[in-house]
Amino acid sequence: MPLDEFVQSLVKVNPGKNSFLSTYLDLRPEGRGKKLHSIFLKNRMSELAQIFPAHSREQALLARDIKRVQKYVEEKLDPSWKGIALFACAAEDFFLPIPLPLPPENEMALSSRPHLFSLMGQADLFRPYAIIAADSRQARLFWIQDGRLAKQRSLVWEEEHTTRFGRMGLSLQKFQRHIQEHTRQRMKEAVENLLKWAGRDKMEYLFTITEEGMEGEMKKHLPLSLKKKQASLSRVDSRDPDHKILSAAFEAIQALSRERAESLARQLLEEAQPLGKATAGPEPTLSALQSHQVERLVLDRRFQAEGWECKSCGYQGTGGVPKACPLCQGATAPAELREAVVYLGQTQEIDLAFTDNYRPLVKAGGIGAMLKFHISGKKGR
Ligand SMILES: [Zn+2]
Repeated sequence: MPLDEFVQSLVKVNPGKNSFLSTYLDLRPEGRGKKLHSIFLKNRMSELAQIFPAHSREQALLARDIKRVQKYVEEKLDPSWKGIALFACAAEDFFLPIPLPLPPENEMALSSRPHLFSLMGQADLFRPYAIIAADSRQARLFWIQDGRLAKQRSLVWEEEHTTRFGRMGLSLQKFQRHIQEHTRQRMKEAVENLLKWAGRDKMEYLFTITEEGMEGEMKKHLPLSLKKKQASLSRVDSRDPDHKILSAAFEAIQALSRERAESLARQLLEEAQPLGKATAGPEPTLSALQSHQVERLVLDRRFQAEGWECKSCGYQGTGGVPKACPLCQGATAPAELREAVVYLGQTQEIDLAFTDNYRPLVKAGGIGAMLKFHISGKKGR
């Protein structure tokens, strides 16, 4: 299932107060194969077990969630996974494990809603992409989905022309034409094979690694929609081993994701003035989100701020917790702002981008948004 669908199923669970358990685990072994996540889990579970009164309904539900997480971690983890997110809510009989492309920071939180900040920070890495590594003898095709290698294929061609060249007595000119024709056929075959896997529009990127002179020929066979998604990976060679090619493409995806977020951040910082087309900083961004004005949201991975939530009307605010909600006088409770913002963004299906310690955005409060239309005060068109 694509990540978007998982996330939509997560925001539809409505368990009420403090009954959603979100767990993120860094699965990398530390030193002599020792797993730090199991120590983290053990400590955090005993802390959480003390939150509710003994024998209460909440306590029983939480115990069920914890047991389910524990069982999954003991039995189902794949050694190749770098991290995992587990969402559990026994009150709604909901349980969802999502393996992560990058190790997250360990976290186990009980709250009214799922914690999505860490998951969404990796969302770009779940998008499907393809790689073609080709030279005159072979082409290797890779299809990556949800951060993992989903399909792989090798096309091997016999190098007959070089041996036959002398025997056939071809002129140099004819020989070169002959090679060109081979390259043309081979690139066509490689692209056709790739298109069989991937619906054209589902593919986010196409990375190519080709021998000199082959890239142009390959591009000729790409449909227009894929030409825009094509980028060559220059740091690796078409004869490099699979793992090297895969990690180069993974790094390229991360770089593209970061660049996209930074350019969006630059744009919104330029346009964020009073009555502008963008907001910068927690307060105006949260307020725009709650009035459904946000088109795109940018957060820095380091964004961390305190906020609060009204328990009766659901209104959210930044900073210290007021005694009563200014809107409805209802009771208030502290809330982690980054989680509140990402959750709200997902309920509205807003496009999120994450910068990684990008100074200009961090200085502006670590968060900002491009708006759908001008904030009130200026007459709309
Ligand atoms: Zn209220």
